[in-house]
Amino acid sequence: MPDAFLNYIDGKWVPAANGETYLDTNPARPGEVIGEFQRSGPEDVDAAVSAASQAQDEWRHTPAPLRGEIIARATRMLVERKPELAETITKEMGKVLVDSGYDVQGAITSGEYMSGEGRRMFGDTVPSGLPNRLAMTVRGPVGVVGIITPWNLPMLMPAWKLFPALVCGNTVVVKPAEDTPLSAVRLFEVLEEAGVPPGVANLITGFGPEAGQPLTTHPDVDMISFTGSRAVGKQIATLAGAELKHVSLEMGGKNALVVLDDADLGEAVTGALWGGFSTTGQRCTASSRLVVDSRVANEVVERLVDGMSSLVVGDGLDPETKVGPLINAKQLERVHSYTGIGVEEGADLVVGGEKLDESFGGHFYAPTLFDHATADMRIAQEEIFGPTITVIRVDGDEEAISVANGTRYGLSAAVYTRDTARALRAVSELEAGLVYLNAPTIGSEIHLPFGGVKDTGNGHRESGTAAIEQFTEIKTVFLDFSGTLQRAHIDEPTSPD
Ligand code: NAP
Ligand code: MG
Repeated sequence: MPDAFLNYIDGKWVPAANGETYLDTNPARPGEVIGEFQRSGPEDVDAAVSAASQAQDEWRHTPAPLRGEIIARATRMLVERKPELAETITKEMGKVLVDSGYDVQGAITSGEYMSGEGRRMFGDTVPSGLPNRLAMTVRGPVGVVGIITPWNLPMLMPAWKLFPALVCGNTVVVKPAEDTPLSAVRLFEVLEEAGVPPGVANLITGFGPEAGQPLTTHPDVDMISFTGSRAVGKQIATLAGAELKHVSLEMGGKNALVVLDDADLGEAVTGALWGGFSTTGQRCTASSRLVVDSRVANEVVERLVDGMSSLVVGDGLDPETKVGPLINAKQLERVHSYTGIGVEEGADLVVGGEKLDESFGGHFYAPTLFDHATADMRIAQEEIFGPTITVIRVDGDEEAISVANGTRYGLSAAVYTRDTARALRAVSELEAGLVYLNAPTIGSEIHLPFGGVKDTGNGHRESGTAAIEQFTEIKTVFLDFSGTLQRAHIDEPTSPD
């Protein structure tokens, strides 16, 4: 019998109302069951949202430094449990241990940063246009926040949203990805032990249409914070937007790593291997397109092929492994279908392109490299979310930037060059929420904003103070001590003639 895990609603671990459960398996060994999880439905969403609504008032009135202290306590527990949690993530999600450690560390640094926000959460104090009047802003929570997250960063993603949401005084209901519920359960065990009061943070596991959608449309949910695919994000924006909920969306990417002709090619290739193949390419910021000046392209491709030969594919728990499995059988088929599409479109398949599931016994795929792709091919436009890098050869900086910008997405971009002026031009022209110079497209830090432009997002940023913007409502406050009626824009002194 597999271990059974429950939902966390109103401070209690409870089964789904419909009694239904599902099994979560290890993508490296699909026969190995990680656990049995609740397959929640609308009734569970109702119960969780009702708990969050009831807890709202008290939590909102709990001083922010105290809220921050509870988050700090949770963070210290994550630090203690980091090795064990990383192993859980690897077993549940497949990525290699070093990537899973990053995942836990992302939750830890978010907790460290956001707990401190309990003593900051700055507003503005500005001069008034009228005498004897103070003008300032203060922040309050949005209310009940529904958090919906993907499987590729199963602890970091919920934590990145939870910690800022909680420190700002919101109460939350989290629906993690169906493929990685255990990481979320472990995070909630920590929240419970750290003393997050009942109802303040609630967890319901299950499937998108059954649990995520009712959360999106629930009348008592004030905000949805979603990270995932563009298709689902669009649907959420439509449904939640119709109810005038706040909606914050972080979606896909087709991130370009640009190699100009003066780049340090060794550095560029090392960066591309890390950016393209870590987490088996299942990163929203993965360096999935390599836009390379044709003068150096042969050498870049040769070095890439060479570097790829040492990418050991295998179980993420094995310290030798560099590339773990894909998340599930569906994703394996999807990634492989893109290899077929690339070949059909006429790109050169240089390395890989094979399913390794039969020989390796899990959802494994060979690291894959396409060369001579054109910018409009589907493999150069659509997010594959697997270990596939597509090289597009260009002539000169202008074409490089135009190709890099030529997708619907705008999450992350990287440029390799030794020339400061060319670098700065690229930084200024790249249409992306994150730009890296002489570093790959992955590797953001918690105290800086994270998110994308164009179809990657809808104008919000996560992380850093940007997260505080997202999870608060601003109240503008005027304090008049003139003892008389002062009329703004009427009695205000104007500039001298
Ligand atoms: P996904 O299929 O969009 O799922 C994301 C979450 O939404 C999951 O919890 C999913 O539940 C849920 N969901 C599915 N259908 C829903 C519906 N109709 N209503 C409400 N919720 C629903 O994405 P994914 O495959 O898990 O993750 C990969 C995607 O995430 C990629 O596109 C990647 O680029 C993106 N991503 C973006 C960022 C970023 O910050 N920009 C970071 C990481 C990942 P189920 O698990 O049951 O499907
Ligand atoms: Mg799994």
